[in-house]
Amino acid sequence: MGFGKETDFVIYVISKNGQPLMPTENHAKVRILLKNEKAKVIKRCPFTIQLAYDSTNYTQDITLGVDSGSKHIGLSATTKDKVLFESDVELRNDIVDLLSTRRQNRRTRRNRKTRYRKPRFDNRKRKDGWLAPSVQNKVDTHLTVIHKVYEILPITKIIVEVASFDIQKIKNPTISGTEYQQGEQLDFWNIREYVLFRDGHMCRCCKGKSKDKILNVHHIESRKIGGDAPNNLITLCETCHKGYHKGTVSLPKTIHRGMSFKDAAFMGIMRWAFYNRLKEIYSNVSLTYGYITKNTRIGNNLPKDHYVDARCISGNPSAVSDGMVYYQKKVRCHNRQIHKNTILKGGNRKRNQAPYEVTGFRLYDKVRWKAQICFIFGRRSTGRMDLRSLNGTKINASVGYKNLKLLEMRKNTLIEIRKVG
Ligand SMILES: [Zn+2]
Ligand SMILES: [Zn+2]
Repeated sequence: MGFGKETDFVIYVISKNGQPLMPTENHAKVRILLKNEKAKVIKRCPFTIQLAYDSTNYTQDITLGVDSGSKHIGLSATTKDKVLFESDVELRNDIVDLLSTRRQNRRTRRNRKTRYRKPRFDNRKRKDGWLAPSVQNKVDTHLTVIHKVYEILPITKIIVEVASFDIQKIKNPTISGTEYQQGEQLDFWNIREYVLFRDGHMCRCCKGKSKDKILNVHHIESRKIGGDAPNNLITLCETCHKGYHKGTVSLPKTIHRGMSFKDAAFMGIMRWAFYNRLKEIYSNVSLTYGYITKNTRIGNNLPKDHYVDARCISGNPSAVSDGMVYYQKKVRCHNRQIHKNTILKGGNRKRNQAPYEVTGFRLYDKVRWKAQICFIFGRRSTGRMDLRSLNGTKINASVGYKNLKLLEMRKNTLIEIRKVG
């Protein structure tokens, strides 16, 4: 691990008895502590040290913002003026496919000439609060990555975005309470997000044929006459919207004020399940909505990224970042033949489970090759490895195992530091 000036990343500090302390950027001091054995390295990525002496537990308020999602999680731990940790987590999206292949493989087994087995497809009961495996895995990953932030930083508060709009507020506009006092403009942003969701993020005029990705929300009758109610609003792409107001495009006759809309099926079971679990585990958990995040991000002129959204969610959008982001990727733990449908050449039957180690390396081990840090994405029995970075960028598809140095054994969540901006 180099301590050069160009790598001015935050170093996380754990007290002698295991409590997280405020992190430091004073690399010189850390180097001296390590040299004099007053501290030891307990984690390389994110770089974390544990002190060997008693220290005063001085902490500031740190808020963790969580941009939860089904494909990515954004995390940002901030004080009023500083970003202390930021991360973008990629979730697994292969579970549905793997399990349906397995189901199919188990079913076709019945048609083959095999000994009799009692049917047992229907002998399982679902407990209360059961979630589909793909959803459960996403909820678990959310909780794991948050727990890991709590291990290295003294987080005092956590804020989660649970949905892109607040349905209660749309159904009942006169709702009262301090959290609902937010002014007319933000109210409209809420309705806007709802309308976009209701219309499936698709232009209701051309149904996406114009290929214009920019979507507007159009008042069917002018705002003065028709108002801001969702039944006077419709999603149009910018091409159709501009065309309509110029008079070159006419809207289909089915679009009129008060038209009936299919009630949008309520979304976000994963985000709500996650939020409720979180409240059971941590104190000081609160929620926010996507339309507020979006308003904050645009108001502060920030780029669109999961960790930037998380920074907005944390309530400190102007906190300064050192430009270091931890990329994490959740990966599978097993590689079983029953999850696959591909038939091998020559009709060879493969082992049920891929070998854990090939020439001493496991899939997703973090290794160093020619001063580059990369992950093993593929192994061949000859000992040649496919090396890639976390986002899948190929580094070299065939490196001999003797040229590799193992940095970290594989984990369920792979992690890599990247400099952005
Ligand atoms: Zn259109
Ligand atoms: Zn319009």
